[in-house]
Amino acid sequence: MRVIVVGAGVVGTMHAWQAVERGHEVVQIEREAEARGASLRNFGQIWVSGRAGGEELETALRARELWEGIGGRVPGLGFRPNGSLTPVRGDLELAVAEAAVAREDAPARGYKLLTPDEARALNPALRGEFSAALYCERDAAVEPRTAQLALRAELLKSPRYTFRPGREVREVIGHHAVRDDHGDVHTGDVVVLCTGAWLGGLVRELAGPGLPVRRVRLQMMQTDPLGEPLTTSIADADSFRYYPAYDSAALDELNARQAQARTAADHRMQLLMVQRADGGLTIGDTHEYEHPFAFDTLEDPYDHLTGVVESFLGRALPKIRRRWAGVYAQCTDPGRVVHRQQVRDGVWLVTGPGGRGMTCSPAIAETTANELGW
Ligand SMILES: Cc1cc2nc3c(=O)[nH]c(=O)nc-3n(C[C@H](O)[C@H](O)[C@H](O)COP(=O)(O)OP(=O)(O)OC[C@H]3O[C@@H](n4cnc5c(N)ncnc54)[C@H](O)[C@@H]3O)c2cc1C
Repeated sequence: MRVIVVGAGVVGTMHAWQAVERGHEVVQIEREAEARGASLRNFGQIWVSGRAGGEELETALRARELWEGIGGRVPGLGFRPNGSLTPVRGDLELAVAEAAVAREDAPARGYKLLTPDEARALNPALRGEFSAALYCERDAAVEPRTAQLALRAELLKSPRYTFRPGREVREVIGHHAVRDDHGDVHTGDVVVLCTGAWLGGLVRELAGPGLPVRRVRLQMMQTDPLGEPLTTSIADADSFRYYPAYDSAALDELNARQAQARTAADHRMQLLMVQRADGGLTIGDTHEYEHPFAFDTLEDPYDHLTGVVESFLGRALPKIRRRWAGVYAQCTDPGRVVHRQQVRDGVWLVTGPGGRGMTCSPAIAETTANELGW
């Protein structure tokens, strides 16, 4: 079978990976020289901790297993099972962490509630003040800026894989064929459109108006090397307010009785932080839903995040080296892991994994492959 994959972000690349693994021929088409979108701009968190119980958690856990296997074959991914810590302060935040460890699926996530000393034994860089920390052993990380390149280098070892960069797919022709903006036609047995947050143009023509997917814009930053290891990823208790795993009476109480800092509330923020292979820290994020999106990055959210990180680390942040924004596509139904739609005979659109796309894409692609009988 010949599979045409459109888009070289992580969703497209994982579909290519699944097809090549199953012995098929793959042509992957990307309009840029290499992917430049959400798949490079993210934290690289393989994030299990906040997932909703049920299908979403199962997808994330399966994906983590697949990432670990792929990471063993592709060291350039920088896969590491680093786990995460969410330090909490005060009784209200502590109660949410306690509710999390009381969940039935807490063992599957590797949740544990740690004292500050236990947390510092795991991650000695946490010298600031906090009263306890929620540990999630299953969280992991990869290097997002180079992951797609590393995966591509591995795929290119297969004679069955072809990468066609610098070509925008403009048209689906009949069944199973696409035309790019060079006028070339690529014919296969199946076409999978993994076009990320580009929801207009070809996608609108094929899927119609009413696509149950929206775009979300986030601000991020990265520092110079910290000068010491940050052995786990870090989140703050604001993350409890955004991730479904923390829904509980304790969270309702937190929301009712403890307001988020003004900047955090205005920009729908949480702290997530992970150390890069070079020692720098990737720190975020904000969430912007209303269009038109800003074309510039705002300083207030960065000031807020710097304050939160410095309070956990008990030291000044290294110089900020980079700031950027990214956009992902998210299913409007928060219960849906991804939007997978047959838009023509033999042509599928796979988009909308939202803030979990880096985590879940290996399992999303596996499900596509199973459902399409590859
Ligand atoms: C700031 C930020 C932080 C995030 N952090 C995390 C995280 O830590 N963990 C996590 O799990 N998820 C995270 N996410 C979400 C995750 O990055 C996305 O869900 C995921 O990268 C989406 O991958 P994709 O392949 O669908 O999209 P993209 O990476 O956008 O790739 C789509 C590709 O398709 C190409 N394309 C589009 N149209 C065409 C066409 N017509 N012809 C040819 N090529 C085309 C584009 O050029 C692009 O390269 C984050 C996202 C952002 C923005």
